[in-house]
Amino acid sequence: MPLSITPVREHHGGSRAELEAELAQEGDPEIGYYHSYEITGTVNGPGVRFTLFLSGCPLRCQYCENADTWTLTNGRRVTMGRMLDEVAKYAEFVTTAHGGITVGGGEPMLQIRFLEALLRRCKEDLGLHTAVDTSGFLGARATDEFLDLVDLFLLDIKSGDPETYRVVTSADLEPTLAFARRLSEHGNRMWVRFVLVPGLTDAPENVEAVASFTATLSGVERVEVLPFHQLGAAKWAELGLDYQLTDVAPPAPQLVRRVEDQFRSHGLNVVWERPERGRSSRSTGAAALANHHEWPTATHEVRQRTAAPTIS
Ligand code: SF4
Repeated sequence: MPLSITPVREHHGGSRAELEAELAQEGDPEIGYYHSYEITGTVNGPGVRFTLFLSGCPLRCQYCENADTWTLTNGRRVTMGRMLDEVAKYAEFVTTAHGGITVGGGEPMLQIRFLEALLRRCKEDLGLHTAVDTSGFLGARATDEFLDLVDLFLLDIKSGDPETYRVVTSADLEPTLAFARRLSEHGNRMWVRFVLVPGLTDAPENVEAVASFTATLSGVERVEVLPFHQLGAAKWAELGLDYQLTDVAPPAPQLVRRVEDQFRSHGLNVVWERPERGRSSRSTGAAALANHHEWPTATHEVRQRTAAPTIS
């Protein structure tokens, strides 16, 4: 399927030319690039998940926690066989814990051939429940066969107002909306995610636009309002990037309630996510573990074992 996207504003190494160069590198579905993986509980889909973070992302969100996943080839190169061997080690554990595999990033659909081949093997060979955590921006790359392989999409709708979306992500909103409509028509299940950033995404009209659009979709099982936090700031500093949200505090409880109520007013099922559990900060190792101090003991132990994510 041809790629149909609007140019990404030149911003922290995210030019259209660089994006196209990265996409052009993708050709062999047996080779992928990943940042890390970890075992997570409940935040990245139902049950305990083998959560894999592929590298490469065309967006440049101001609040990105994982700016070190933006570039495809900054990730570790891995063969399909080696990746599957790693997933297989945890397949029985996550299945017993009513979970499966979740693939995020970065933007996992940047490597859609590898992703599709991986999910097919996970489903057919290992019997795993599959989830994909995506901005939907590259949804035009997905075939219907790919959609059939995904049991659940975690779809980030980062704003409802196109101008706000562009300020937040440096890209256009419409590809995400088009992908959401397609998922709805195709019969896919979705959890819609909205990151609430005071002064950036919290305008009532912006939230209203996301909520009213989401309410038109079929298959949305829940909406998660994820409060902004500062966990990603250190990576921006490490990478020498210009972080714009230094002075932004997490949203006050009253603001979170107002936004949740906006979604609820459209009949949507809103699930609360505490800030420290909202999304995984893919620093891995001790720092990442410190961000998730409420995991069940068994999961925590597994995460400690996987803290060094290199597959060799
Ligand atoms: S928040 Fe997600 S979609 Fe946005 S730049 Fe970071 S990895 Fe990409």
